[in-house]
Amino acid sequence: MDRLVVRDCLLSRISCVLEEERPSDVSVQPVYAVFRESVENGIFCGLATERDIVQHPKWIFADLTEHRECVSVPPNASVTRALKIMDQFGLSALPVLEQKQFLGVVTKHSILNMLLQRERILLKESRKLNSLLTEEHEQIISWSAKLAKLHEASRSLLTVLAHTSIQNDLLQMGIESLSELLETRYGAIGILDASGELNHFVYTGINAELAKTIGQLPQGKGLLGVVIQNNVSLRLDDMSAHPQSAGFPPHHPPMKTLLAVPIARHDRVYGRIYLSDKENGELFSKQDEDLALSFANSLSLVLDNAREIEEVKQARLSLDYMAHFDHLTGLPNRTLLKDRVDQAIYHAHRNHCMIGVLFLDLDNFKVVNDTVGHTCGDALLKSVAQRISDCLREGDTAVRLGGDEFIVLLPDLSDTQDAAKVADKILELLKSPFVIERHEVYASIGISIYPHNAKNMEGLLSTADGAMYYAKKLGKNNYQFFTPEMNSSAQSYIKLEKHLRRALEQHEFVLHYQPQVDVKTGMIIGMEALIRWMSPELGMVNPADFIPLAEDTGLIVPIGAWVLKTACSQARFWHQNGFPVRVAVNLSSRQFHQVQNQQQSQHPLLDAVLNALDEADLPPELLELEITEGILMQHLDTTMDILNALKNIGVRLSIDDFGTGYSSLSYLKRFPIDTLKIDKSFVNDITTDTSDKAIVAAITAMAQQLKLEVVAEGVETVEQLDFLRELQCHFVQGYYFSKPLPAAEFEVILRQGRQLH
Ligand code: C2E
Ligand code: MG
Ligand code: MG
Repeated sequence: MDRLVVRDCLLSRISCVLEEERPSDVSVQPVYAVFRESVENGIFCGLATERDIVQHPKWIFADLTEHRECVSVPPNASVTRALKIMDQFGLSALPVLEQKQFLGVVTKHSILNMLLQRERILLKESRKLNSLLTEEHEQIISWSAKLAKLHEASRSLLTVLAHTSIQNDLLQMGIESLSELLETRYGAIGILDASGELNHFVYTGINAELAKTIGQLPQGKGLLGVVIQNNVSLRLDDMSAHPQSAGFPPHHPPMKTLLAVPIARHDRVYGRIYLSDKENGELFSKQDEDLALSFANSLSLVLDNAREIEEVKQARLSLDYMAHFDHLTGLPNRTLLKDRVDQAIYHAHRNHCMIGVLFLDLDNFKVVNDTVGHTCGDALLKSVAQRISDCLREGDTAVRLGGDEFIVLLPDLSDTQDAAKVADKILELLKSPFVIERHEVYASIGISIYPHNAKNMEGLLSTADGAMYYAKKLGKNNYQFFTPEMNSSAQSYIKLEKHLRRALEQHEFVLHYQPQVDVKTGMIIGMEALIRWMSPELGMVNPADFIPLAEDTGLIVPIGAWVLKTACSQARFWHQNGFPVRVAVNLSSRQFHQVQNQQQSQHPLLDAVLNALDEADLPPELLELEITEGILMQHLDTTMDILNALKNIGVRLSIDDFGTGYSSLSYLKRFPIDTLKIDKSFVNDITTDTSDKAIVAAITAMAQQLKLEVVAEGVETVEQLDFLRELQCHFVQGYYFSKPLPAAEFEVILRQGRQLH
């Protein structure tokens, strides 16, 4: 038999159409050959397939063929070459042209069909010869020549199959050929899936209903199971008495003889073939078994190959996926965004429309992440990605840039307010608590518009980013359109962050100490350590201007540890010099909500406190830790554990800015607290505002009942002091007695023995 070329494999059903026609005007066919001028002797323009038509149902054929290069093969091209070309260009059909003359079309199916037909003929011939062989010894030479041809055909079949993914057709045609060849009434092939079930099942001679039950049989059942489990062939001469023992269901039609062979390669069993009852009533012979085994062997090669190809394809796909998509959320990444923005700009430029770019950054994600741990944090990011996607229309793109930053691209914007609407919708959707730990997530969004604010991707991203920073500064959970003035404000925020990152290692922080004075005795009993940043570039920066940034960036954790260490060693120094004053240190919520990793035997905050006390050798009762009501209210269980552990160390705990949160005094009883610090906003108007007066009076009275010490913050005038004295408030802190002072100046007033009058 000759080498198989594409001319032999032409598809029988194609439709020839004119390029100006539309698919809806002609009868449905899987492949259309498109011609200019005339379908009989016009110019061939290309092929259009069902897939093209589904993608662009309204296009005329000229458009369907024009947008892709016309690849063809000559009629004498080998089928292997044709299949390779199809794979290379991702085509399902290929035109066959001889000197530009259209001869027909080949598809993977048409090639496979032809190959199987040939295989069938060859198998038949070989079988005829096989029987002759037993009678006529002399024919052995010609028989072996034919067998060689059979093998060659098998090989070419294999090469071809390596390029196809039409496994099912192959199996179906395979079992039909085999059953026809061995003249059996029933035949089936079952292929195992990854979990060991025979869920790929093709058959002949059995009805579909029955096939379903047999197909779902577990692989290990009955005698058929042995074929798979032990990788052996099975030939039964009479199993009609025990169909169930062979692994068939009870209602299987009665079968007498059975031939079952495994489909296996290198000890790996892919499935099994079974054939049953020869038409002429004969028993299955050894030769039948050899033939079935030889077929099973070819099949195993194909399956082995196909699996390998599938693995390579999957690997390629996942590489491609990784290059363009964020692995966590499944959203496109920056690389794909670049593509989409470029396309959108091209389109907007031609159609004179606008593009909106939303830069979204979650406001409290870092805290949430530190609190709930990274696994929950990741789950939360996924849900956020989903909610953002839910707000978008078809054609819009949501992208994760990394961390908690997302971009939303709105191409084809006719009104800038549409961008605002999307931003609003996103903020609204994020507000409802997430299932994971019932956290609420807020976001700040900056909006940049093409062509007003920038004309390329980098410009659009950086202006949207600037607007986002501005939104954050304005109190978070809002959106802002970019304006040129924002540039400088965003720049300065970015500059601040850059300097802040270096400040600790450059020793730019110092602590100031503000005295706390006993109202009764007038003596200094302690001090609050307040951080100051002496930046060479920015001058002296107040904590109000950099603590929020330090919290956002997480820098507060190392900064906080430094404050603890410095304050403790300063207090120890004064203690040694005869001034046993206690020092109060402010804690940030991020220090509380660090995640304890497996190497750490205790919470990182406890570690930091113990280290600071140890290093300074300071008695723990001289250290007071100030926390806000906000910290108390978040994550009660963990906070309570940490506070109890701190209490066990022996340090004091105080509630800072008391009255500004919403905690009630009775609620406070649950916590191991020593001191309440009344917020300075109440103290400020204590002499004029009757409700402030009442609040402060109530707080002091109740605190006394709860045996808590009370410190009034921000005492500036003698009138305020007198009032607090009347209420029997224990301690005061404020400008009236002293501003926060550098350590050296504080030491002066300590040595002077300065007192409150
Ligand atoms: P805070 O803990 O409530 O500290 C008291 C603030 O009130 C200090 O502001 C102090 O200078 C100011 N103050 C004291 N007496 C008076 C007064 O009579 N009148 C007025 N108007 N203000 C007075 P400062 O030093 O600017 O600190 C602001 C906030 O920054 C602190 O509020 C605290 O929450 C935070 N902070 C300061 N140092 C640290 C630190 O080391 N770590 C952390 N996490 N936060 C710190
Ligand atoms: Mg404080
Ligand atoms: Mg305070």
